Amino acid sequence: MEPFYKKRKKTPFYHTWTRLSMKKSAMIFHIKNLKGDFVMEKITSFTIDHIKLEPGIYVSRKDPVGNGMITTFDLRMTAPNREPVMNTAEMHTIEHLGATYLRNHADWGTKTIYFGPMGCRTGFYLLLAGDLESKEIVSLVTGMFEFIRDFKGEVPGAAAKDCGNYLDMNLPMANWLAKRYLENTLYPIDEAHLVYPE
Ligand SMILES: [Zn+2]
Repeated sequence: MEPFYKKRKKTPFYHTWTRLSMKKSAMIFHIKNLKGDFVMEKITSFTIDHIKLEPGIYVSRKDPVGNGMITTFDLRMTAPNREPVMNTAEMHTIEHLGATYLRNHADWGTKTIYFGPMGCRTGFYLLLAGDLESKEIVSLVTGMFEFIRDFKGEVPGAAAKDCGNYLDMNLPMANWLAKRYLENTLYPIDEAHLVYPE
C-alpha cells in the first residue's frame, strides 16, 4: 500500500541529513521505515514558537474552500509549557458551553464551522467561515467566555444520549477558567496577543 505522505527518492542518511540541515531544518523532520527514508513537513501549527506564546486570540491558519475561506483561530488560554494545562473535564464543559453559545449566536451561528479543544490542553480551536482577523472576533470570544463564566445549572448536552462521555464535566472549573481568560487576556487584549509572536 502506498504511504499517504510524499515519497522522496531514497538517499543515504548522511546525504539527506546534510541536505535538510542546509534547508530550514526546523521545518522538516525525518522518518525512516523499512521501505526507506521519507520526509514529512511539519504542519504550520507546530512551527509556532510555543516558548514565546502567551494566552491570546491568534489566527492559526486560513484555508480556501470553494469560493470562500475558513479561518482557524487559536484561542490560547494558558501559557504553553509554563503554566498548568487545563484538565479534560473542564475543557469538555467549555466545549459544550462554547459550542452552544456559538451555534446560537445571531451573527456568527451560521459561520461557525467547529469549536474544540487542542490536544495539548492549553486552548481551543475555533473555525469560522470567512477571511477574518483576530480583532474582528474579540467581542464574539469575550461574549462566549462571559457566557461560560456565568453559566450555572445543567450543562447542555451533558447526557448519555447526547455525549460520548457525559460524566466527564467540571462546571465550576470551567467558570473559573473562563473568568481567568477574560480578566487576564480578553479584557486587556492588545496587538501582541492578537498576532502570533515572530
Ligand atoms: Zn461531550
